Amino acid sequence: MRKKLSALILCFAILFTGCAQTVPASGRAISKIDDKYKTFYEVFVYSFCDSNGDGIGDLNGLTGKLDYLNDGDDLSDSDLGIDAIWLMPIMPSGTYHKYDVENYMDIDEEYGTMADFDNLISECNKRGIDVIIDLVINHSSSFNPWFKEATGYIDECIKAGKEPNASECKYFDYYNFSNTLQSGYRSLSNGWYYEAQFDSRMPDMNLANESLRADIADIVDFWFAHGVSGFRLDAVKEFYSGNPTKNIETLTWFNSMVKEKKPDAYLVGECWTDMETYVKYYASGVDSFFNFGFAQAEGFSARAAKTSNKGLTAKDYAAKTEYIQQSIVAVNPNGIDAPFLSNHDMDRAAGYFSGDNAMYEYKMAGALNLMMSGNAFIYYGEEIGMKGSGTDPNRRAPMYWDLDVYAEGMTKGPSELKGVTQKYRPVNEQLEDASSILNFYKGLIKLRNMYPEIARGTVDNLEEYTTESVAVLQKTYNDSKITIMINVSAEAQTIDLGDISITSADWLYANPDAKGKDSVGKIKKGEIVLPAFSLVIVEME
Ligand code: CA
Repeated sequence: MRKKLSALILCFAILFTGCAQTVPASGRAISKIDDKYKTFYEVFVYSFCDSNGDGIGDLNGLTGKLDYLNDGDDLSDSDLGIDAIWLMPIMPSGTYHKYDVENYMDIDEEYGTMADFDNLISECNKRGIDVIIDLVINHSSSFNPWFKEATGYIDECIKAGKEPNASECKYFDYYNFSNTLQSGYRSLSNGWYYEAQFDSRMPDMNLANESLRADIADIVDFWFAHGVSGFRLDAVKEFYSGNPTKNIETLTWFNSMVKEKKPDAYLVGECWTDMETYVKYYASGVDSFFNFGFAQAEGFSARAAKTSNKGLTAKDYAAKTEYIQQSIVAVNPNGIDAPFLSNHDMDRAAGYFSGDNAMYEYKMAGALNLMMSGNAFIYYGEEIGMKGSGTDPNRRAPMYWDLDVYAEGMTKGPSELKGVTQKYRPVNEQLEDASSILNFYKGLIKLRNMYPEIARGTVDNLEEYTTESVAVLQKTYNDSKITIMINVSAEAQTIDLGDISITSADWLYANPDAKGKDSVGKIKKGEIVLPAFSLVIVEME
């Protein structure tokens, strides 16, 4: 370690004094690496952007908004900067959310056509955006022809007075039928029952059936041919409810099947359970599983970002980031964490915070999420602090492009949506405000794009510096090391660096309008001062 501060420090100190911009202005260029590490944006097409005036979001609407997400120009700061999209289900379905699929090889007509999808993919490719789609194979719709064939066959058997047999109708074995009532089963009203853990319209499928597996492989081929980069796997915990071993076996089959077709495909599974249990699912080879432990109001990110009644601190967050990464790679050395703040099944994160510092705390929760290793996910509207809680429709409210509900592209949202009032400004106003949540999110994503170490690095919680207010994480990727310091408190925090010198620094301030001597980060000999609600990425010697 060098005793003397380098000339560069002086340089940075001058550069940053009195310069409280939101988007980092110096440091490295955007670094594009062709691998599976991305910053994802979850889109509920229904509520995102309407292109044809029926009030329902559609694929062409999303395509029209791609420049908002990523304009393909690394040098521009006008776009959010994400480089991957997760589309919630887009296949034909009888529900607004479309988690019950009637046909696995088509687009729901509310959303458009296969040609619209191909155009979306083509426009995403131009911008360097990968697209993964929701694949719901735990269950189908009860209106899926497979289920209708099977139940029709059972009716025939009852009439003919014979036992159903899959050798006569293969679809009989695509689902779990029984002539006695069992837990999680629903009545067919002909004396037979079928397993449907979620809803009577969502019959569970028998994923051990070889013929069904062959159909699923064809479905995977179909979507790869249409340019998807991978899949988000719904409800993997319910493949065999209560039987993780069989779930992992099924996922191992699915992962191998997919990777044989497309070795660089990316898969992320929804396994909504405790940290110790879901980590075991990495044994399947599936690249990622959503990290529910850091999500929601009770998760490590949101609670560490609260300045009062928090329960968990920056210290807990920092320790857990290291713990979860070690836990994942212990099971699968190629496993990729998939952190997020909230998704379509939970209350939106802006509602987790209240009081005078609510917006700063919310921004810092976003920072804690986006500074995590792995593939961080952003739920549409999170980047502008959209609210929505209580019911699923409320959590899936229309993307708030404009104050005017009749403005171009605005959707009407799910029919049962009610009582959602937005607290923060719409997209078009936040774009113009340097201190907006949106511009802070842009800064965070830009940091992820500038520093490949953030997503890809091995994380070390630097316990000698980390406090209840400041998480200090070192990330090592190949031969490169960066240190991320995140001050989640409402006061400036000083970190004693001893004789370590800092050679570069990129700052982000959640409250760039703060006045006073501590509103701008300072690097002095032997110490660094982090303003309230700020983060800095430094390289040290
Ligand atoms: Ca529409």
